[in-house]
Amino acid sequence: GLVFHLARRIWTLIPHTRFSAEERRLLRSLPQAVARGEIQPYFQPVVDAGTGKVVAVEALARWIKADGTLLSPGQFIGLAERGGLIRLLTKGIIEHAVRTAAAWRAHHDLDIPISINLSVEDLEASDLVDHLIALCDQHGVPHGAIRVELTETQSIVHFDVVDRAVATLRQAGMAVYLDDFGTGYASLSVLHRIPFTGIKLDQSFIRTLRDDPRADAIVRASVAIAQDLGLSLVAEGVEDWETRDRLGEMGVRHIQGYVYARPMPAPELIAFAQQAQPA
Ligand code: C2E
Ligand code: CA
Ligand code: CA
Ligand code: CA
Repeated sequence: GLVFHLARRIWTLIPHTRFSAEERRLLRSLPQAVARGEIQPYFQPVVDAGTGKVVAVEALARWIKADGTLLSPGQFIGLAERGGLIRLLTKGIIEHAVRTAAAWRAHHDLDIPISINLSVEDLEASDLVDHLIALCDQHGVPHGAIRVELTETQSIVHFDVVDRAVATLRQAGMAVYLDDFGTGYASLSVLHRIPFTGIKLDQSFIRTLRDDPRADAIVRASVAIAQDLGLSLVAEGVEDWETRDRLGEMGVRHIQGYVYARPMPAPELIAFAQQAQPA
């Protein structure tokens, strides 16, 4: 009667019941997928529109299963965050990114910085920043070769902790970008309180830039803020030349988007970057 009723209520309130059967199956297989290296980054270039050179690349997680199926971040990042597995996943991506940076330097004469996406929870974990810096040192990768993009800032609970983590990264020589700038809570108060190196202007404004004067005004204002605060700025989600040119008129040089290239496996990125910047 009552006891059973209560037990059932408690059961429905504990976190794992928020997951569908499919999500539970994915969550269960995630740790092994990380251990087997099935979760690896694709790389998307950030291009200087003035010179055509690749100035950075962003590492974007892909889950490539043994049977060749590819899952995109939308299918497992949020899930990993809710399921408490994001730190594990991040460690896997960091490992790949640092090894890749080392290999590009050693074997391909390519010294383009690699950006990794960190969730707030990653920075709130006390050991992750130290782990990242130690990993670079262990592989002989200069700290400037790794950058950090902070996503999902709406979940910042401990501003002081995130603030310290960002300061530590910057003191170590890593650039730290505020991702999805202008959306949700990734905006002015976060920018005000945390010492970022730069911002990544969210795609939602870029996508509508051509025909929406309001998006145009927001982008212009963001560029002004970045300039006044001495921040770097990257526009992401740029899909056509017209938008790229409009951004250029506003003073935005660093462009990421399908107009130049989609995220791709490391070997393709090497070819892309080498053809974009001949020796
Ligand atoms: P994000 O960090 O904002 O990454 C940019 C997303 O926009 C990527 O989607 C990229 O493929 C896509 N994109 C780039 N250029 C264009 C374009 O011109 N047009 C359109 N329509 N899309 C473009 P993706 O790879 O599916 O990643 C989605 C999100 O998942 C990322 O958004 C990021 O928040 C998260 N994510 C990806 N990898 C990681 C990771 O290793 N760790 C964490 N914590 N989050 C990650
Ligand atoms: Ca990002
Ligand atoms: Ca973004
Ligand atoms: Ca995003």
